[in-house]
Amino acid sequence: MTVHQPPGGQPLRSIDALVEAGLVASERREELQAVSERYAVSVTPAMAALIDPADAADPIARQFVPDAAELVTLPQELADPIGDDAHSPVEGVVHRYPDRALLKLVHACPVYCRFCFRREMVGPGGDALTGAKLDAALAYLASRPDIWEVIMTGGDPFILSARRVRGVARRLAAISHIKVARWHTRVPMVDPARITPDYAKALRIPGKASYIAIHANHPREFTDDAREAIARLADAGHVLLSQSVLLKGINADVETLSGLMRAFVENRVKPYYLHHPDLAPGTSHFRLSLEEGQALVKRLRGHLSGLCQPTYILDIPGGAGKIPVGPAFLSGCETPGAEAFAEDRHGERHLYPPA
Ligand SMILES: *Cc1c(COP(=O)(O)O)cnc(C)c1O
Ligand code: SF4
Repeated sequence: MTVHQPPGGQPLRSIDALVEAGLVASERREELQAVSERYAVSVTPAMAALIDPADAADPIARQFVPDAAELVTLPQELADPIGDDAHSPVEGVVHRYPDRALLKLVHACPVYCRFCFRREMVGPGGDALTGAKLDAALAYLASRPDIWEVIMTGGDPFILSARRVRGVARRLAAISHIKVARWHTRVPMVDPARITPDYAKALRIPGKASYIAIHANHPREFTDDAREAIARLADAGHVLLSQSVLLKGINADVETLSGLMRAFVENRVKPYYLHHPDLAPGTSHFRLSLEEGQALVKRLRGHLSGLCQPTYILDIPGGAGKIPVGPAFLSGCETPGAEAFAEDRHGERHLYPPA
């Protein structure tokens, strides 16, 4: 594999920059220009360096380099696929479940994933939640004693400075009914140098448990730099969870998914969610069927440690929330008094007696 070194330390944020870096063929410039006018583009130096430009199916390139297929929007695809807007009581907060709320501190991300479920909302424009808007969002969280957990997402909150993050952490610490804080981020993989020991400390919420859900989709994202960044977060006392999206052409095969889940566990990250891709516009080329997803997850259950098992999740389109979507290993138990059939990892069925 030719390891590609992009010029400079800046993210590649335009088709021209991607062409110049050798990540897009110049004859594709025009068609991809149309994609970049519709959806934000950014590839960090760390991710650009991981792409093998000679490999047309490179799983890192597929995640970040625009594709003409994004211009195809299907009728069932939605601008707000998981219905955030319907559950936003105040700017920056999404409160769908009684015990937990999202606090969206920024709209921007270090990279723009081509399959992003919030692709109509995230981008380099838009202000971070600061000043009176942040005050109002925190006042809402403080006014709802049922809110036990606050989830910082966006955008990617880890693009904020250590000073900003520490400021938010201190203010959350002052709200007594909030017991748990969770950060969702892709920075440890895509821009690991940002995670300094000081940054890892700034993310602690005094007096609360802090969890960090790390988004990665392919084992190759676990570079030495990424592993070290993750270690700094673990060493600072955060509990680490994973988040991945099941993506056709990127990780939708047993070998890749196994490698990904093992890489998380080897780095002290407990697999949490494997998301079925949301119905975001222009992302149909990444979606497989729920049936195909279940078959893959079943095979993971069959040959990987229990530590490596994520929950396969569907966010019901429109805002009804997240549900686990299987696969099921038990059948027949719907009928009262009947035996159930339990399927083992070889596909053999065993009778289980009624209660
Ligand atoms: C995904 C999401 C959560 C977190 O759900 P968990 O199942 O607890 O990880 C919380 N609020 C909203 C609005 C969400 O979309
Ligand atoms: S990092 Fe998350 S929010 Fe940002 S573009 Fe990727 S999937 Fe979307």
